[in-house]
Amino acid sequence: MPTAVPDLANPESRQPAHGALWRDGWWQAARRVPSPNFGPRPDGVLGEVWLVVLHSISLPPGRYGGPEVEQLFTNTLDCEAHPYFNSLRGLAVSAHFFVRRGGEVVQFVSIDDRAWHAGASLWRGRAQCNDFSVGIELEGLEGERFDPAQYGSLERLLRSLAAQLPLTDVVGHEHIAPGRKRDPGPGFDWNHITALLGELSLRGPATSGAAGLSGA
Ligand SMILES: [Zn+2]
Repeated sequence: MPTAVPDLANPESRQPAHGALWRDGWWQAARRVPSPNFGPRPDGVLGEVWLVVLHSISLPPGRYGGPEVEQLFTNTLDCEAHPYFNSLRGLAVSAHFFVRRGGEVVQFVSIDDRAWHAGASLWRGRAQCNDFSVGIELEGLEGERFDPAQYGSLERLLRSLAAQLPLTDVVGHEHIAPGRKRDPGPGFDWNHITALLGELSLRGPATSGAAGLSGA
């Protein structure tokens, strides 16, 4: 048998058995880059993680492919390396996942734990969305389109997450912190995942249902 070459854009190909895809909250299809920026979920919340929050990020903004986002989330970013990075000095942030251009998925925090991605936030009457959500960063910039491979990886990840957690909602950071945050922004085409959300019985940001998600 030839040795299988892992296909990072098609994470399912790395695992022969679906049941082996998760271990202690880590997706085995993702590249693991542990972040120190996390804490335990509050008592009673573990097992009740029902929200996925989508974000966009690139460092410096609009530049793709570099190591800076992973450095930010692991507190190793050189804040002297770019003027923009000054605004990030002292920040301790993370997300559970980072979907790169090209579709590679990086995981920083176990989904059993609380990542620091949402900040002050509110969705369906519940504040502090970090407590009960999974945060997914998409490498991108507000207003710019995303890579088709990112939608593919996001779908695989959402499908796998929905099999692990009692998910009910998938929204953007802009929806849980309106006025303060604008990511992933208008470049993210919710129509790409509308069918998947319907199949998994998940609600998108149009709270009345998928019918409200127009291409506008
Ligand atoms: Zn965000």
